[in-house]
Amino acid sequence: MPTILDGNRIRDAIKEELRPRIARLAAAKRPPGFAAVLVGNNPASETYVRTKTKTSQDLGMCSQKLALPESITTEELLAIVNHLNTRKDVDGILVQLPLPPQVDTKRILLSVAPDKDVDGLHPYNVGCLVAGLPALRPCTPAGILQLLQRYEIPIAGRRAVVVGRSDLVGKPVALILLERNATVTICHSKTTDLAGVCREADILVAAVGRPALLTADHIKPGATVIDVGINSLESREEVARIFRNSAEKLAAFERKGSVLVGDADPFALAERAGAYTPVPGGVGPLTIVMLMANIVDSAERHLEI
Ligand code: NAD
Repeated sequence: MPTILDGNRIRDAIKEELRPRIARLAAAKRPPGFAAVLVGNNPASETYVRTKTKTSQDLGMCSQKLALPESITTEELLAIVNHLNTRKDVDGILVQLPLPPQVDTKRILLSVAPDKDVDGLHPYNVGCLVAGLPALRPCTPAGILQLLQRYEIPIAGRRAVVVGRSDLVGKPVALILLERNATVTICHSKTTDLAGVCREADILVAAVGRPALLTADHIKPGATVIDVGINSLESREEVARIFRNSAEKLAAFERKGSVLVGDADPFALAERAGAYTPVPGGVGPLTIVMLMANIVDSAERHLEI
């Protein structure tokens, strides 16, 4: 039976470790401060920002949401970010993406002070990751490392294959695994013989965004598979095909109108993997808690604790 890597359990453990650190900061100086910038009314962005601010408040941080109009200009948003950069009570700034088309997203992300860039996506922080220097790390990749470490899955000397080369997940995961001495291959949409490369992996990370792209053909028996993909299936036929007519999944589809699946075929994972992350409940829960960890790290640095 493969080990199911339970992201909810690890998230709860990390939260419990953060609580005393937050309490110590609050008692000594002030609680960690978090500012989330939300532009416009994108429902998914609103949900993400609400979850992030609520989680930080539940942990005892001081957080605020800046809700800004869809019509905002690049210059106006730059002024707001610059103000947050100078505020002594703000340790972490998160600009929720996507931004409206008239806003220059790259300029905005570059304007976030690197020591407050709790998403870990500023080129300064990416450069530190490449150079092996301590800095704020991107949340989803940092969460994947936590999962592997806390389940005591060896990384050094193992073959790791990362499918996907996004700045958000694929590239930083590959760099983090390399830093931990894995032998790393990155695959992408132009890779030839994807299945053959994936079959070499002791640790296979899928960050593609294609429902059940990786099949039994891609998974070496006993491999650890980290499935980052979150894909919403919105057709009954697709749910029936991918979940092999599972009555439970079809009933969930009838109830909710959609069903989630990762980038790996769930049956292939159960049959061939030695350990794997489920979707949902695997990598997903770790992203937000690693954001919280970054805010606390940043506050400790700012307050020299
Ligand atoms: P992206 O679209 O930016 O990148 C996808 C990558 O997959 C690209 O590098 C592309 O080259 C590669 N790719 C596309 N088709 C391919 C194919 N057929 N074969 C091999 N490679 C292919 O996506 P992203 O932002 O990295 O996100 C990937 C998935 O992870 C999405 O489903 C997203 O929702 C999910 N995600 C989950 C979390 C989480 O917290 N669990 C966080 C971020 C992203």
